[in-house]
Amino acid sequence: MEKITIAIDGYSSTGKSTLARQLAKALGFIYVDTGAMYRAVTLFALQNNFVHKGKVNQGALVKLLPKIHLDFRLNKETGNSDMYLNGENVEKPIRSLEVSSYVSKVAAIEEVRYKLVEMQRKMGKAKGIVMDGRDIGTVVFPDAELKIFMTATPEIRANRRYKELLEKGEKVTFKEVLRNVQERDHLDTHREFSPLLKAEDAIEFDNGDMGLEEQFERIYHYALRIIEAQKKGA
Ligand code: C5P
Repeated sequence: MEKITIAIDGYSSTGKSTLARQLAKALGFIYVDTGAMYRAVTLFALQNNFVHKGKVNQGALVKLLPKIHLDFRLNKETGNSDMYLNGENVEKPIRSLEVSSYVSKVAAIEEVRYKLVEMQRKMGKAKGIVMDGRDIGTVVFPDAELKIFMTATPEIRANRRYKELLEKGEKVTFKEVLRNVQERDHLDTHREFSPLLKAEDAIEFDNGDMGLEEQFERIYHYALRIIEAQKKGA
C-alpha cells in the first residue's frame, strides 16, 4: 500500500489515540502517541524533583534533556507500543492524574518541544504513519496528506477520562478530572510555542455529534481515497 502521513490533533480525551491506533492497524501503518512522549518527560521532571508548588523548574529540566532517552517498544500482550523512559516501561505512571496535572506546563517549554518534534519527524520520515497530538498537522508534519482535528465538550471528555482513571484504580473525583481537562485546554491553546490550533486544511470532527466507530469509518475512507489517488498519480 502507498504510504501517507496522517496527523490527528485535538483536545485532550477526544478519543484521538483510540482512533489513530485503529487507523494505523487497518492501514498497516505505524502509530505514534506524541502525548506519551510529553508525559514521559513530565514523569522525569517529577522523579527528579523539578516540580515544586505547582511550578516546573525549567532550567534544571532543560539542562538534563540530553539525559532523557525515549523509545516505544511493542507490548506483545496488548499488541500496542509502550513508552519507555531511559529503558524503563512507564506506560502506567505517565497516565496518572499527577502527570496530567503538569504535562501541559512541561509541554510549553520551547526546548522540550524542539527535542520531541525532532524525534517525531525522524519517526515519520518514511511516511506510513499515524501520529496524534496537538501540533502534528501544524508544526510536525504541515505537509501531511490527511489532517484531522477532534473536538468535544469538556464535560464529555472529562467523563471519558474519569471512567478510564477509575478503571485503572486511581482515586479521583469527576470534578478534579474536569478541572484538569479545562486547565490543559487553556494551557495548550494559550502557550507561546506551537499552541493547539486547527490546521487550516484539517477536517474537524466533533465527538459529541458522532460515535468513534462512525468517525473511524469516515477517516479510513478519506485515507483510502488519498492513497488511491497517490497510486494513480505515481
Ligand atoms: O494526548 P495527551 O492528552 O496524552 O497529551 C498530554 C499533554 O501533552 C497535552 O495536554 C499537551 O499539553 C501535551 N502535548 C503537546 N503536544 C503534542 C502532544 C501532547 O503539547 N503533540
